[in-house]
Amino acid sequence: EPPAGKDQGEIVIEVRNLTKRYGDVLAVDSMTFTVQPGIVTGFLGPNGAGKSTTMRMILGLDRPTSGEYWLDGQEMSKLSADRRALVRNQKLGFVFQSFNLLPRTSALENVAMPLSYTAEHLSEREARSRAEVMLRLVGLGDRMDHEPSQLSGGQQQRVAIARALINRPSVLFADEPTGNLDSRTSEEVLTMFRELNEGSGITIILVTHDPNVALHAERVIRIHDGVIVDGGLPPIAQPPEMRDRPGTEAKGAS
Ligand code: ADP
Repeated sequence: EPPAGKDQGEIVIEVRNLTKRYGDVLAVDSMTFTVQPGIVTGFLGPNGAGKSTTMRMILGLDRPTSGEYWLDGQEMSKLSADRRALVRNQKLGFVFQSFNLLPRTSALENVAMPLSYTAEHLSEREARSRAEVMLRLVGLGDRMDHEPSQLSGGQQQRVAIARALINRPSVLFADEPTGNLDSRTSEEVLTMFRELNEGSGITIILVTHDPNVALHAERVIRIHDGVIVDGGLPPIAQPPEMRDRPGTEAKGAS
């Protein structure tokens, strides 16, 4: 059954004993945490800690070896790949370190792109107008017809953020969003996340290896070697056979 609190809309994401094994590597080791709506949550850990693997599972891009997670009350690991893709397109937005914009394509067209992947059918005019609103929101109202190569790194990331927001997701995932930006531009982008959060109340998950980036989060979940070391919840009791976790020794002490 869905975790307590769902009906009140108090929890956007709840993860229980989420585990991902790649052969002998336990990339994510029984993580249990919640992400409350409306705040910026940092997901902090060194390279190889399991951050991307966790995010890929929550985004429905990768299947857990075991464990469960709920998104807005829906148990995701039980859905088919098609259903997960639909939920992802409707409820989740994501930006990455590499901006992943289409080259030789205007900022406006890049931002409007996800609209064609949803069930909601907008006319070309409506799509354009919604993309314009998003680009103005990220301060690029005067760059709509520019192609990625004509924009700075910070501007490209802002286009990616506008694209991530176009379907009005409940959660925005940002995986090392400032990894390719200089420190001044990084601060601008991180400030923008905070402003978006304060303005619209959108839930933001800020994934990073950099403690300075995590300072922009209201709450930080710290992970190491696939395990939450701070900011999570105690693991939920599970059957003894699931506690047998060969492979953890090989990863070294933290
Ligand atoms: P982070 O995002 O924190 O840098 P990752 O989630 O990328 O960490 O990786 C966690 C662990 O899982 C690492 O030991 C990594 O080598 C391993 N890993 C990640 N993806 C794969 C994969 N597709 N195949 C095998 N091992 C993987």
